[in-house]
Amino acid sequence: MKFYHSYCDIISFLGCAENIDLEKVDAVYPCLANEYYLKLIDTGNLADDPIAKQIIPDSRELNDCDSSYDPLSETEQSPVPGLVHRFVDRAVLLATGRCAVRCRFCFRKRTWTNGGETLPDIDDSGLIKICEYLRGKQEIREVLISGGDPLMLPFERLKKIILELSKLDNIEIIRVGSRIPVVWPQRITTEISDFLGSVPGLWFATHFNHPREVTAESVEACSLLVKAGVPVINQTVLLKGVNDDPTILEDLFRRLIKIRVKPHYLFHVDPVRGVRHFATGIECGLDILRKFRPRLSSLAVPAFAIDLPEGGGKVALQAQYRTADEFRDIFDCKNIIYPDA
Ligand SMILES: *Cc1c(COP(=O)(O)O)cnc(C)c1O
Ligand code: SF4
Repeated sequence: MKFYHSYCDIISFLGCAENIDLEKVDAVYPCLANEYYLKLIDTGNLADDPIAKQIIPDSRELNDCDSSYDPLSETEQSPVPGLVHRFVDRAVLLATGRCAVRCRFCFRKRTWTNGGETLPDIDDSGLIKICEYLRGKQEIREVLISGGDPLMLPFERLKKIILELSKLDNIEIIRVGSRIPVVWPQRITTEISDFLGSVPGLWFATHFNHPREVTAESVEACSLLVKAGVPVINQTVLLKGVNDDPTILEDLFRRLIKIRVKPHYLFHVDPVRGVRHFATGIECGLDILRKFRPRLSSLAVPAFAIDLPEGGGKVALQAQYRTADEFRDIFDCKNIIYPDA
């Protein structure tokens, strides 16, 4: 796969006109994309293209000087390097800082900002320390392997991390979080899917944001995982100008359940520096949920969540159906009294 490491390289690959201002953004938040994902872009409509908006910089990224780089306090909640432990029964392992593309809305943008924090690949001694911590906290039953994108690691390294984690008595679930099926689907080989399918309690969480990302190649990648016995779930970020529309999201979620990928979360954009121009506002997500309720199978509807600042955790939000002591029906035409116990 061919990778393009700067705004200029990306624009020349696309054959589009350069915007000098965006080179300044590239200098702060460096661009990265690959040939597969760039080919999904409609170059005739670059300014409005939902794929382009995910990887081409925007001058508004530099306007935001007030927001925190780490509003979720991940760095504070890291008991050993490479591990974030916020909730009782689960922890996040940051396995690598590498990704196949750099998404402009990334909530861990601090880890790939020029001159900022970096996430190294977890090495053997780092892995030993993480496993010691996990062994000492018997209440932890699940490890989410994230990054970066853990599928950017050499396969042998990823395998080692997963096998060491599965040796721990208390770890029942391993959740691999990766955008690779969406941005570099050819990387999912039968060797990888068969290995992931052989690990008990392993789930795969991927990250589709737009129906145009559901290509023949990405369907094939997901189907390799599903056929190997790996449950695949999806998290989507609600992005202004990309997918903040119930019709687009309905199309995306219907395509996903058809290939047995369960929409799990729809996240509001976190208040991270350099990504806030993507924020839609919470009400937009609730409106979308209300529109979904009567017309979209519950299989296709994810939980809509915000991640609270100060490490307060994820909170799933519901559209309100309850008035004082009556319930509004889901078609929003009348109030109905429920014979409560
Ligand atoms: C999101 C997250 C989890 C996983 O939470 P779920 O609601 O189970 O998906 C775990 N730890 C941290 C630090 C997280 O941010
Ligand atoms: S793939 Fe994930 S971690 Fe990497 S840049 Fe995109 S959102 Fe961030």
